[in-house]
Amino acid sequence: NVCQFLSGEVESGTRRKVKRLLSFQRYCHASRLLRGLVPHTPGSLHLLDDDYLGQAGHMLSKVGTWNFDIFLFDRLTNGNSLVTLMCHLFNVYGLIHHFQLDMVKLHRFLGMVQEDYHSQNPYHNAVHAADVTQAMYCYLKEPKLAEQLSPLDVFLGLMAAASHDVDHPGVNQPFLIKTRHHLASLYQNTSVLERHHWRSTVGMLRESGLLSHLPQWKSIYPIITYRGTYSIFSLTPPRQDMEQQLGSLILATDISRQNEFLLTFREHLDNQDLDLQLASHRHFMLQIALKCADICNPCRAWELSRQWSERVCEEFYRQGDLERKFDLEISPMCNQQADSVPANQIGFISYIVEPLFEEWYRFTEPSLLSQTMMGHLHKNKACWSRLRYAQTSLETQTHPQIDKLEPEGEGEEGESVP
Ligand SMILES: [Zn+2]
Repeated sequence: NVCQFLSGEVESGTRRKVKRLLSFQRYCHASRLLRGLVPHTPGSLHLLDDDYLGQAGHMLSKVGTWNFDIFLFDRLTNGNSLVTLMCHLFNVYGLIHHFQLDMVKLHRFLGMVQEDYHSQNPYHNAVHAADVTQAMYCYLKEPKLAEQLSPLDVFLGLMAAASHDVDHPGVNQPFLIKTRHHLASLYQNTSVLERHHWRSTVGMLRESGLLSHLPQWKSIYPIITYRGTYSIFSLTPPRQDMEQQLGSLILATDISRQNEFLLTFREHLDNQDLDLQLASHRHFMLQIALKCADICNPCRAWELSRQWSERVCEEFYRQGDLERKFDLEISPMCNQQADSVPANQIGFISYIVEPLFEEWYRFTEPSLLSQTMMGHLHKNKACWSRLRYAQTSLETQTHPQIDKLEPEGEGEEGESVP
């Protein structure tokens, strides 16, 4: 096992060399795929790789479908799903041309983002980032939004999705606060992780030089006419403004601010006063779309949804084990003995996911995708309820087999998924 090998007994120099080698291999694979150059070396050991790349390329042609299997895509791209997906979407939207991006710098930036996710985290890793980016793409395509969005909106939406959890340590904010982690004091115990994700992203943006050709500040040119002096603004978005907007999007994913966003969203829908011609309203909807994308796991088909649930609980339980080990109070949902996966999921769906997606459903009026997502959400919740019931009634006997249970009606409308 590579992860064990990398984190284990090997001295750090060798570890770095191995890591560099692995990422170099990933880079080669991704760059060939991205340029559409599948190497033809008949009879060689690369045949299997060609096959994988072909399949990954085929998957990209269906990147906007809700049943897109990001786990499979990550395996086919050799652990390079985030870079591959982002480059593909940037091409789809023509963002490279629009912002005159340098492909080498883009690759450097995306490679850094992907590498800075912790692959040892069961949940908060680069595959989660790729999953959120894919969901974000689906939401950006919603008819209510798509026509109103500017290239800058799309660029920021995708960038925020890809980097929103970068360098996540695999533990939550209360844990960082109670262990007096330096990040907690740096960010004064408020949106500690989100601020770190944002500042890390800005650091990588500057290091890669991806936006270095854009003006840093708003360029104001005074023009004098017979009626007075006016200021006109440069048409290119200034770097500083892009970094701020990126921050505002990433900070919106702080789940402790959920109510604030939910109430504002609900108010806008009740008053029917969302005007997507306004940049500020579009920005608000990007924040909501990113929040939805971040917590959309329970709205996916059961087989994908279940894997995410198990991963997130595994990460919570690891935190709980650490807390136990260091005699700290065990955080909610982190106690493997007391907080089962079904119980955690039912709480998460009822208090966090359902309220937000009910409003999103309303916003899309509802779109085909929203109907599909709500269908999955209700089925998955019912399935977790049955599993919880099975677990509590069979507590002393065998453990219920999660993978054998399917939500009611599963598979009937698989073909109708948009
Ligand atoms: Zn996230």
